Amino acid sequence: MKDVALQLKALLFPAIAAIAVLSMEVGIENVRLDAQCTTVGAACPGCGVCSTRVHSSYLRFLADIPSAGRTVELQLRVRRFRCGYAKCPRRTFVEQIPGLTRRHGQRTERLRSILTALLTAVGLALAGRAGSRLAAVLGMSISRSTVLRPVEALPEPEVPMRRVVGVDEYANDGPPAQ
Ligand SMILES: [Zn+2]
Repeated sequence: MKDVALQLKALLFPAIAAIAVLSMEVGIENVRLDAQCTTVGAACPGCGVCSTRVHSSYLRFLADIPSAGRTVELQLRVRRFRCGYAKCPRRTFVEQIPGLTRRHGQRTERLRSILTALLTAVGLALAGRAGSRLAAVLGMSISRSTVLRPVEALPEPEVPMRRVVGVDEYANDGPPAQ
């Protein structure tokens, strides 16, 4: 059974070192992954000091990348740690899994990056409400402003500078004098 869990981990989270897949439930339309972080402790985001003093734990539910037509929900057990550094302003903090979660995020980082790329493309092609309608067809509930946000975050296109050619340049571009 442990081998299966390791294989699942390698298949589902090849880039995430500190995660263990505890179980997987495959339904007709969705997959639920039950996972947890495998590190002993975590670094406090306030002071950077590592803590192993677990305060409590709870479940986070994160949307992950769909798989073979099924939506995927990651049910992640996360721990809240006490920060042991006396001068730190934070008393407790919740662990994050680098490359997978962020504070208050409701999607995994990989789903977030795909959605951002998709929304940028959709937003550029079909700004605002039309983009929002297309997202609804794709099974994602996304507002008009969310469609436009990644587009607004894009850097301004560079306007090519028109090169002014002086009369002297023309004179110098000619074949070298014999
Ligand atoms: Zn701290």
